[in-house]
Amino acid sequence: MNRSISLLFVAGLVACDTKSDLDDTGFDPDTGEDVEESCEVTVTVFDYSDQGAWSLDNPDCAQSEQSPVDVLGESLIEGEAPTLVFNYGGTPLKILNNGHSIEYEVEPENNVLLVDGEPYNLAQFHFHAPSEHRINGETVPMEMHLVHKQGSALAVVALFIVEGEVDQPWFAAAGWDGLPEAPGDCVQNEEQMLDLDDLIHNQRVGDNSDLVHYSGSLTTPPCTEGVEWFLMGQTLELSAGQIAAFTAIYNGNNRDAQSLNERELVWDGDVSN
Ligand SMILES: [Zn+2]
Repeated sequence: MNRSISLLFVAGLVACDTKSDLDDTGFDPDTGEDVEESCEVTVTVFDYSDQGAWSLDNPDCAQSEQSPVDVLGESLIEGEAPTLVFNYGGTPLKILNNGHSIEYEVEPENNVLLVDGEPYNLAQFHFHAPSEHRINGETVPMEMHLVHKQGSALAVVALFIVEGEVDQPWFAAAGWDGLPEAPGDCVQNEEQMLDLDDLIHNQRVGDNSDLVHYSGSLTTPPCTEGVEWFLMGQTLELSAGQIAAFTAIYNGNNRDAQSLNERELVWDGDVSN
């Protein structure tokens, strides 16, 4: 079910104008449409066709430690990344369409990532298509971002999603057939618990994978820096139909690769569970 892209990492070693200006009424002057809010969804639209303009209203987007980046083999440094321990549990189903992605909201107290023993709580996870991070210049069909917070500090685990032969059962059971199609839409069911531990451990994402670690930023405005990024070598496989279910709603919500500048991409093949 899973295929490691560690070989890609190893082979590499050798080888919007910003968000729409919504006023208090929800009227979007850029589109001239009323932006509906329901289920307490904050809708924010980014213009991916004019990413250079993001920094006009969000100066951090032009800073020097931005994300995503291209994971070029020659820029990988073999080393020790912070140790990750996934202490995930369950969370009730709650899926939002926030105007730029499909986002699953998570009950943070039950879902903790230890980064060198420091607890970060999983707040949400969302998706990009195609991937934001590149591997030697290439995107893969999708990328999943698990966003963890400790106060204002952020640690994001990125899972690359490739096309597999069969429907991914975890996603099939997590409302993937009925994603909220329109910005502001929400699907929720307090009775339906998602097992995030199953996602991580049965899919072996957190077990003995390799990963690439670097310091970057949010990939959407305000592009805040200081985000610890962990790009996991173990991929997830979704069927072509499951990938299409997402790209029918969002396709092209991936920021261009940003300059690495002085940063190091640390490749580490040793991750605990
Ligand atoms: Zn993201």
